[in-house]
Amino acid sequence: MSLLRPFELHRPATVEEACALLAALGDDAVPYAGGTELLLLMKEGLLRPRHLVDLKRIPGLDAIHDGDGRVALGATATHRTVERARLVHERVPIVASVARHVANVRVRNVGTVGGNLAFADPHSDLATLFLALDAAVDLASPRGRRTLALDELVRGPWETARAADELLTGVTLVPPPRVAAAYVKFGMHERPTLGIAVVLHLAGPAGAGGDEGGFCEPGDPTPGGGGSQNPPSSPPTLATLTRVVDARIAVGCVNPKPARAHDAEARLRGCDVAALEDVVSDVASLAAASADPADDIHGSADYKREMVAVFTRRALRIAAARAGRGARDARGAAVVAVPSYPYTVVA
Ligand SMILES: Cc1cc2nc3c(=O)[nH]c(=O)nc-3n(C[C@H](O)[C@H](O)[C@H](O)COP(=O)(O)OP(=O)(O)OC[C@H]3O[C@@H](n4cnc5c(N)ncnc54)[C@H](O)[C@@H]3O)c2cc1C
Repeated sequence: MSLLRPFELHRPATVEEACALLAALGDDAVPYAGGTELLLLMKEGLLRPRHLVDLKRIPGLDAIHDGDGRVALGATATHRTVERARLVHERVPIVASVARHVANVRVRNVGTVGGNLAFADPHSDLATLFLALDAAVDLASPRGRRTLALDELVRGPWETARAADELLTGVTLVPPPRVAAAYVKFGMHERPTLGIAVVLHLAGPAGAGGDEGGFCEPGDPTPGGGGSQNPPSSPPTLATLTRVVDARIAVGCVNPKPARAHDAEARLRGCDVAALEDVVSDVASLAAASADPADDIHGSADYKREMVAVFTRRALRIAAARAGRGARDARGAAVVAVPSYPYTVVA
């Protein structure tokens, strides 16, 4: 690894100023956030920009806030900030849980949400998770602002729909009202070999109530528990959420870009939560059939396809247990025993 070549550091005070700099400096300039990817590429001599446009000092670009039923993560929010944000814990706890397991603490302390998505490394957790959560990505350029679905932003390995003078300004999530979710990632290298996100959208039996909102989450298996929507006096809702009305399964790291397993999702629609075990194998096979892996240092294409089946099965079983059909404790609350697998993180 060589030393960094000289460059000029620009410190704009606003998003507009940053975009104008990128437009004026053209191919010689790149945005700079945590630098965990950028500085590595520069040290390796793979990228030689003469101007870095530092985004970290733009006030508010790291903000995490809610409004209109949405949760917005600012582009320069670090993984660590996301992991610790109360709002994220309350509204989209699976996001906090995944953030806690990104990379190592050194990378989490400086690496940002925007840098992760803009870099579009296929071995990323966030893009896979955000795809399963129907997230939208906000961008700004001298031509104005636009919003893209996650799937539209990421075009392939290290390739996005972002124009050179465009900045990611944040990610917007609409916390789904009644869901059970799980993210399972596996890998023996620095970055994950495979990531599977499962989000089950739940409802009561046709015609029944069960409209209380909330996430069924790690360490908090009661739907709505820990969420801000349910006042403490709300009646328990476990019994009312008996059906899967919709589902998202996103497969990450093995495809050129994170991809939803649409056929596997369709197999889950309308299933009873209590009977999910009956379809787990079918769903896993459909997810594996939808994968488009290639041979690389993480393993052969055949191995990865098999691992998609194995880990879809595991993620779905964990999400199903979180949906409240697992064992119950003395008070009747679901107890989710999350198994541990070698080289695997369950979020
Ligand atoms: C050792 C290691 C392990 C890792 N493990 C994981 C893992 O387990 N899971 C995972 O998901 N990720 C992992 N990562 C990736 C990590 O999450 C990213 O490196 C980090 O989030 C990138 O953010 P950054 O702010 O450092 O980006 P930078 O390095 O500053 O920038 C990355 C790229 O994005 C561009 N960019 C940055 N911000 C913006 C913006 N707002 N708008 C437009 N373009 C922008 C830059 O120009 C550059 O091209 C790992 C990285 C390392 C180094």
